[in-house]
Amino acid sequence: MTSKTSEKIVVIGSGPAGWSAAIYAARAGLKPLLFEGALSMENQEAGRLPMGQLTTTGYVENYPGFPRGNLRGYMQSAVSSDRLLVVPDEVFERDEIQPGVYGSALMELMRAQAEDFGTRVVSEDVVEVDFATRPFVLRDSNGDETVAETVVVATGASARWLGLPSEERFKNNGVSGCAVCDGALPRFQNRPIVVVGGGDSAVEEALYLTNFASKVMIVHRRDELRASKILAERALRDPQIEILWNRRVEEILGDDENGVTGVRLASASTPAEPTIEREASGVFVAIGRRPNVEFLNGALELDENGCIKRTVPFATNTSVPAVFVAGDVADSRYRQGIIAAGSGACAALDAERFLLEQASDYS
Ligand SMILES: Cc1cc2nc3c(=O)[nH]c(=O)nc-3n(C[C@H](O)[C@H](O)[C@H](O)COP(=O)(O)OP(=O)(O)OC[C@H]3O[C@@H](n4cnc5c(N)ncnc54)[C@H](O)[C@@H]3O)c2cc1C
Repeated sequence: MTSKTSEKIVVIGSGPAGWSAAIYAARAGLKPLLFEGALSMENQEAGRLPMGQLTTTGYVENYPGFPRGNLRGYMQSAVSSDRLLVVPDEVFERDEIQPGVYGSALMELMRAQAEDFGTRVVSEDVVEVDFATRPFVLRDSNGDETVAETVVVATGASARWLGLPSEERFKNNGVSGCAVCDGALPRFQNRPIVVVGGGDSAVEEALYLTNFASKVMIVHRRDELRASKILAERALRDPQIEILWNRRVEEILGDDENGVTGVRLASASTPAEPTIEREASGVFVAIGRRPNVEFLNGALELDENGCIKRTVPFATNTSVPAVFVAGDVADSRYRQGIIAAGSGACAALDAERFLLEQASDYS
């Protein structure tokens, strides 16, 4: 079924970038329609369930506006009780001061704010786009079609994980996917940490973590880092960094009380070689992220990192006029919630300006 009237703006994606774009577009009177993604097994396996990457972490301590405190009253007044079910009970049951805002709580606050201003939310994936002519046509996972004058793509990225049961068990209890987000936590101070990976992200994370850890061990499957020469040399020269070559994580060790306490590493090149164990207070997995662009099927130009290419400096334009981009799907550099939210606002403002210019062309 194709909607008869053309939407002024359609936002695809439900992370900070998508909700922020929707809030700005709604307040500009554009009545946005937002596709938040579907609660499907396929999305679960791909690590892109609705509400974005921040729902996969615990407390977020670096999002401005949420200092240490107790958010219970505000959350309960701002978010409907059925939506609050996604936030773990202990976040509300405890009266004590919390270290920031819980990731899924932050996302529910953003969603509530966007809906408050009139954003209509569709709980489906966009699975196909036709950007060849305007207005554009989008097909969703329910088989419905939507016509749009402008589109903001804010589909984010999916973190790659090792896929070990022990990794799942200790996520947010020593296992992390983001050094900038979690490196300063007390559990990592002056204690050894493991970083898994050998590319730019892994080396950057390792160098950053030397600010907190007593020692950083990079576990890499090969005998050479894939990171750029300058970064690799910096890591090799750093006395706080040890590189464990030709090793893969076989198991993350720990217990419920202490979280991660170490790693068991197998040889990645010689299976008969004995495993080794190292003590560690945390494991940072930095084996890459996948920008969520498959559904575009080549409709937008990508950059060398597989992110959607921004074609105008400091703006959110893409290779197709009237299609704008925001958040991690176009960002291989910063990858932070606040940056994604900021770029979502920019994309909505760019779309609004585009529509105004079009209207004045025809007047
Ligand atoms: C473990 C972890 C911890 C982190 N901790 C922090 C932190 O403490 N502070 C911080 O600032 N940042 C943190 N980050 C980074 C932060 O989560 C991201 O930078 C931010 O979420 C990016 O926002 P986004 O809106 O671009 O996309 P995302 O958050 O990736 O959300 C995009 C969402 O869009 C939806 N979507 C995807 N494809 C489609 C489609 N075809 N149709 C419809 N919907 C679709 C999916 O539901 C997807 O989840 C962390 C990241 C990870 C992985």
